[in-house]
Amino acid sequence: MKIKLLLFILLICSSLWAQDILLDLYNAGVEISREIDKAVLEATALTDAEENQLGAQIRTEIIKTERPCTHRRFPVNEIFRKVVANASRQGLDWECTIVSNSEFNAFAIAGGKVFINKGLLDAVGSEAELAFVIGHEIAHIDLKHCVYKIQHGVRAGQIDPNLGELVQIGYDIYSRPFSQPQEQEADELGFRLMRRAGYPKQGALDFFRRLEQFEPKIEDPTINAVNDFISTHPTARRRLERMQQLD
Ligand SMILES: [Zn+2]
Repeated sequence: MKIKLLLFILLICSSLWAQDILLDLYNAGVEISREIDKAVLEATALTDAEENQLGAQIRTEIIKTERPCTHRRFPVNEIFRKVVANASRQGLDWECTIVSNSEFNAFAIAGGKVFINKGLLDAVGSEAELAFVIGHEIAHIDLKHCVYKIQHGVRAGQIDPNLGELVQIGYDIYSRPFSQPQEQEADELGFRLMRRAGYPKQGALDFFRRLEQFEPKIEDPTINAVNDFISTHPTARRRLERMQQLD
């Protein structure tokens, strides 16, 4: 009986040990693929001037379907200028465009181009709340998330694409969601950018409380699945809790 018990304990220990080894191997694999990804992104990096040219052309394609408009409720361009003054990539042609889409959304593309939907401007409650949204979109560009998305698209396609092909790739994928870690980074940098521009922390908290009201619509198949705020996880509640930790 004692031998059986000993064998049983040995079996449990060895399987836990094997699990540890498998976990180590998995983590090593993740680390290697991360390093390869970093090296490829560096090797295919665009200069700011190239990114500006690319962004301008993708914007031209986007505004063929997303109609630019004006909105009187908030001084959008003034808020944008204040927030972007704190971005690190000052060589980009930063520009904010309001589009007449009624969905609660905003998005960013390579080359410093931010788009804010009329539907979002109708819904936000204060300049500070809008400053956080603008900060979040600027952060996606400042952290190169937008241009990395295009570089990843290139790797799946051609080896040495020309500008026209890059524009097509950029247009095809501009509305695809970012990864969860990228969303978290954009929340944190966006928060810092709006705070440095002099806006109160409350703006970010108000935004995530508002976003919570939109979350039940995620289950609704008729809603646009590529929304930068609504389709991304973690939840607005979790993101709000993270913002509460910041100053
Ligand atoms: Zn985002």
